[in-house]
Amino acid sequence: MSEGATKKEEKPRKFQAIRGTRDLLPPETALWNRVEQTAHQVFATFGFGEIRLPAVETLGLFARSLGAETDIVGKEMFLLAEREPSVVVHPGRFGPPPQSEQDRRDEVPPVFSEPSMRESVERQIAESVLVLRPEATASVCRAYIEHNMQQMPQPVKLYYMGPMFRRERPQKGRYRQFYQIGAEVLGGSDAPAIDAEVIEMVMTFFDRLELQGIQLDINSIGDRNCRPKYVELLRAELLKVKDKLGADSQRRIETNPLRVLDSKLESEQPVIAKLPRIADHLCEDCKTHYAEVKRQLDLRGVKYHENWRLVRGLDYYMRTTFEITAQGLGSQNAVCGGGRYDGLVELLGGPPTKGIGFAIGEDRLILSLQESGKAPAQQGRDVYIAWMGERAQATGIRAAKDLRKAGFSVELPSVEQKFGKALGQADKLGAKYALILGDNEVSEGLWTLKTLADGSQAKCTEPDLLEYLRKQRALSP
Ligand code: ATP
Ligand code: MG
Repeated sequence: MSEGATKKEEKPRKFQAIRGTRDLLPPETALWNRVEQTAHQVFATFGFGEIRLPAVETLGLFARSLGAETDIVGKEMFLLAEREPSVVVHPGRFGPPPQSEQDRRDEVPPVFSEPSMRESVERQIAESVLVLRPEATASVCRAYIEHNMQQMPQPVKLYYMGPMFRRERPQKGRYRQFYQIGAEVLGGSDAPAIDAEVIEMVMTFFDRLELQGIQLDINSIGDRNCRPKYVELLRAELLKVKDKLGADSQRRIETNPLRVLDSKLESEQPVIAKLPRIADHLCEDCKTHYAEVKRQLDLRGVKYHENWRLVRGLDYYMRTTFEITAQGLGSQNAVCGGGRYDGLVELLGGPPTKGIGFAIGEDRLILSLQESGKAPAQQGRDVYIAWMGERAQATGIRAAKDLRKAGFSVELPSVEQKFGKALGQADKLGAKYALILGDNEVSEGLWTLKTLADGSQAKCTEPDLLEYLRKQRALSP
C-alpha cells in the first residue's frame, strides 16, 4: 500500500518539553516531596490551611490586580483564547503577529502601554481571554471574595503550592513553568505582629530545610497616603538624571519609578545611590507600623537587613515588603518575595480587607539545597526479593505485602531469574538486602537474608525477618 510506504519514510517525530519547561524526575522529585511535606507541616503549626486553586483564570483578574503596566501582564502571560475574541490574540501578546522567531520568544511588546488601546483591550478581552496564572495571590483573593471568607473568623490564613507560568527568558533559576509555595493572611487587622509572624514562618520553614546562606531583606514602601507623594518626588529626581539611565529605567520613570530602585545595571548604581529614600518620606502611621514590625521580628529572634531599595514589582504591595535570598543561585538568588497588600481584595471587588503574604520560588529553593549538598542521594530499595519457582513466587508475593505494610520499599521481580542475575539486579537498584527464596527455603520455612553491603547471609523465619529489619531500620541514621 502506497500510504503505508510513505509513512515508513517519514522520520518519527521527536517530542520535547517546550522551552522553559522541564520534567522533574526521580530521585530529584524525592527532594521536591520533602520540601512540600515540610511546608505542609510547618505551615500547619502556624495555623494555615491549604487552598488548591485553578491554574487557569481570566486575564481580567491579573490585569486588575497586578497592574497593567507590569511586565507580567504586559508581556509575560500565556493566553488561552476560549471564545472568539474581537482582538487578535497570540500566545503571550496582543496585536499584530510577531515579526521574527526571536521576537516571538522573548521580546513581546507591552500591549498595555498605549492608554487608549489599554482601555479597549482590557474591556474586550478581560473576561473572554483565559490565562495560565503567573502567580497565585490574586486567585487567593478572588477565592476569599467568591466564598465569602470575610464571614469566617479573621484573619483567614491560607497557603498554596503549584505551578505558575510566565513567558520569561529561560535561564538558571528562571523557567516558564515554575513552582511556588506561598501563603496569605487575609482579613482582621494589619497588626505588625502578623507581618512578623508570616516572616517568622518562612524563616522557620527554611531553617527546617537547612537552607544555607539565607538573608532576609525588609523595607516599608508606604501606603496610599505617603507613597504617591514619594513616587512623584522620585519621578522628578529621576527625570533630572534621565540621560544617565538605561532604556529600561528610562521607560520606568513613566510607568513605575519604584522599579528603577530594583535595577542591577552597574552604570546606574551611583545614580540610584543618590535618590531620595522612602524611609525619609513615610507618613507617621507607616513609620510606626514599620518600627513595630522590626520590634516584633526582634522578639521572634528573626534577623533582618533593612534595604531601602527593596520594592516589589507588583502594584498592589504596600508598607512591609521583604525578600529572602539564598546561596548557590547566581543572579537569580531570590527564593522568596512577599509583602503587605491591604487594598487588593477591595480592588478585586471585595470588602476592604487587610492582607499580607509571600511566594517562595520552589525551583530555586531546590537548586540551592542541591548546591549545598542538602539533597538526598538516590533512594534505593530496602529489600529485593530473589525468587525461583512457583511456590517461591507465591511466598515472595506474601512477603512483599507484609514488608510493604511495615513501610519497607520492596522490589519483587515480575519474572523468575537465576539467583546470580537477581543479586546483580538488587545491587544495581541499591537494595540493602536480598531475600532469597528457593524451593528449600520455602519448604523449610527458613528464609535467607543477604546483606548486600558486606555479603553476609543469615537464615531466619518469617516473623524473625520483619523483627530484624525493623530493628535495623531503627538503628540506621
Ligand atoms: P525575579 O525578580 O527573580 O524575577 P519576581 O519579583 O518576579 O522575581 P515574585 O513574583 O515575587 O518574583 O515571585 C516570588 C518568587 O518566585 C521569586 O522570588 C522567585 O524565587 C520565584 N520566581 C519568580 N519568577 C520565576 C521564574 N520565572 N522561574 C523560577 N522562579 C521564579
Ligand atoms: Mg520576575
